[in-house]
Amino acid sequence: MGNHRAFFLRSSLFRALVAALGTAGFLVASGAEAGPNTVYSYTVEAHNAPMTVDVILKDGKIVNILTDNRESPGVGKKAIELLSKAMIEHQTVAVDAITGATVTSFALRGAVTANLKAAGLDTAKFQTKIPKAELKPEYATEVAVVGGGGAGLVAAAAAVEAGARVVIIEKLGYLGGSTVVSGGGYNAPDPERQDRQGIEDSVEKFYDDTLRGGHGTNDPELVKVLTSRALEGMHWMEGKGLAFKPKVTTIVGGLYPRGHSAYGGGYGYVAALEKFLRAYPDRVTVLTDTTAKKLVKDASGRVVAVEALHNGKPVTIRASKGVVMATGGFAANVELRQKYNTGVWKELVLDEKIPSTNNFKASQGDGLKLAADAGADLINLSDIQLHPGGAPKTGIMSSWPSGRNRIFLNTAGERFVNEDAARDTLCKAIFKEGGTYWIVSNHVKYPSLATVSKNLTVGEMIELGQAFSGETIEELAGKTGMDPTKLRASIDTYNAVVTGKTKTDAFGFTKATSDDRPMTEGPYYATPMVPAVHHTMGGIRIDRDARVLDANGNAIPGLFAAGEVTGGVHGANRVGGNGIADVVVFGRIAGAGAAEP
Ligand SMILES: Cc1cc2nc3c(=O)[nH]c(=O)nc-3n(C[C@H](O)[C@H](O)[C@H](O)COP(=O)(O)OP(=O)(O)OC[C@H]3O[C@@H](n4cnc5c(N)ncnc54)[C@H](O)[C@@H]3O)c2cc1C
Repeated sequence: MGNHRAFFLRSSLFRALVAALGTAGFLVASGAEAGPNTVYSYTVEAHNAPMTVDVILKDGKIVNILTDNRESPGVGKKAIELLSKAMIEHQTVAVDAITGATVTSFALRGAVTANLKAAGLDTAKFQTKIPKAELKPEYATEVAVVGGGGAGLVAAAAAVEAGARVVIIEKLGYLGGSTVVSGGGYNAPDPERQDRQGIEDSVEKFYDDTLRGGHGTNDPELVKVLTSRALEGMHWMEGKGLAFKPKVTTIVGGLYPRGHSAYGGGYGYVAALEKFLRAYPDRVTVLTDTTAKKLVKDASGRVVAVEALHNGKPVTIRASKGVVMATGGFAANVELRQKYNTGVWKELVLDEKIPSTNNFKASQGDGLKLAADAGADLINLSDIQLHPGGAPKTGIMSSWPSGRNRIFLNTAGERFVNEDAARDTLCKAIFKEGGTYWIVSNHVKYPSLATVSKNLTVGEMIELGQAFSGETIEELAGKTGMDPTKLRASIDTYNAVVTGKTKTDAFGFTKATSDDRPMTEGPYYATPMVPAVHHTMGGIRIDRDARVLDANGNAIPGLFAAGEVTGGVHGANRVGGNGIADVVVFGRIAGAGAAEP
């Protein structure tokens, strides 16, 4: 405990020094002797936050690498784990970056190299190249799953449950796609939890909300499947070892308190599914760093194989039963999102100035072309969603916008929208206010500085200048530039609604659950936020059995699709918390369908 604290304080100091000096990397201590071992520390800017890397040396060899990283579980953390192990095992810094986690990989490599230099070691001696894993030129399986994110892993697990052999083809160096960085919020009417919170709900209400949220342009058949099978899908995930918190909440843009929070967020799903799949080594093969390039049909028109590239070399995966497309959306592909931007956001240029919340490399829309080349119909590509909860510049999401007990304020400190509105309504209102706004909460939402908001604690966010706190409303106003009188008035109108003094406010906000509580005392918190490109609702047209359809509405034999690569489920605006439900519900259907003889 004592050591841990000392380490934390020391690394806080390092970060303060880095900030003060404005350096990309900063060597802090050299040669702190610890018996025969020598420890060198170096702080670098990683993906989510600065990271201090300690390298422990003995007799001129790397014996351990330790970090205080705040990188995303399953992405940056995974890269650090894999690369540190390889560096120690091979005594080298010449490790290849993990595809999809390059920022973290380079940061780690740079910091370890700096430590070796500081130790007076010749870094030229730490350049051994590790041979790359070779794949066979051809794999024969029953089900091929293209994309190892949420929908792909669910489909693979469902196919395994149906008795099939599966190959997962994933272009990144790890599994999880954008799902692994997601909040993992899952909508389902759930009497067990909702009754306890006094929330009335039903499949019919969920269906109506999903259609209303999608502006009625969703495929009603697909919405029926999603809403009627969401709870069953959640229980299926529980069967895979994922646990959900006891209370439901409203996910931002979720329109109703039926959002389930999984422990571990999106990473929780990926970790549980990976664990399940790894238990079947004879039936499941995972090919990472392998990019699908083409779907192959036989003479009858059935999709029977996937052609891919691994380290520039061709690999063919033959699938005797079926192929599932699960390659995710295209929210991070600036070129594609501009090309298709003729819908809700047509007045806005969706260039790189608008950040993306997604895993950049995963969400490039590769699967659209692959499926279209195989005859699939692509629908509703102009339906692009912006999310109000992006961090300025990076788009990284935190837990601030979702849940209850927070208000959205313009830079002057005034409320301007019903926080429970749909995401397109929220983002349009934010742009009207200039594009940046504050989310304000207090100790009710964040009981202590140690409360975790996604990757960072609230205390760390404050330390890094990503959030501000004030014991009083006036102190918070002073730190954020909001007008203290307006800030107080905004909190008062919110409090009037949640305490029942007024039924609704000028924006239509009403008390939604017994968890809505007034903000009456500090500490108060604020974080700046911007809209960020988040989800692409259009994609491959499917039917209720997740079969891929051509332009005439005929199923393409052997081809299935699930998750964000598909279109039709969400209409023009996805309801918050329906993305993961989509991944699980249709991933299961696609995997089981592809495994059928
Ligand atoms: C930050 C964030 C938070 C979110 N929070 C929530 C939430 O709380 N609740 C909710 O309902 N929704 C949420 N969403 C949306 C939801 O997470 C996504 O819609 C969903 O996870 C997409 O899953 P997927 O499997 O379809 O795609 P992904 O998880 O992106 O997986 C696609 C995979 O395919 C791989 N791939 C792509 N092309 C190829 C190729 N050519 N060859 C091989 N592999 C390829 C990618 O690398 C990736 O691993 C969130 C999204 C983000 C980005």
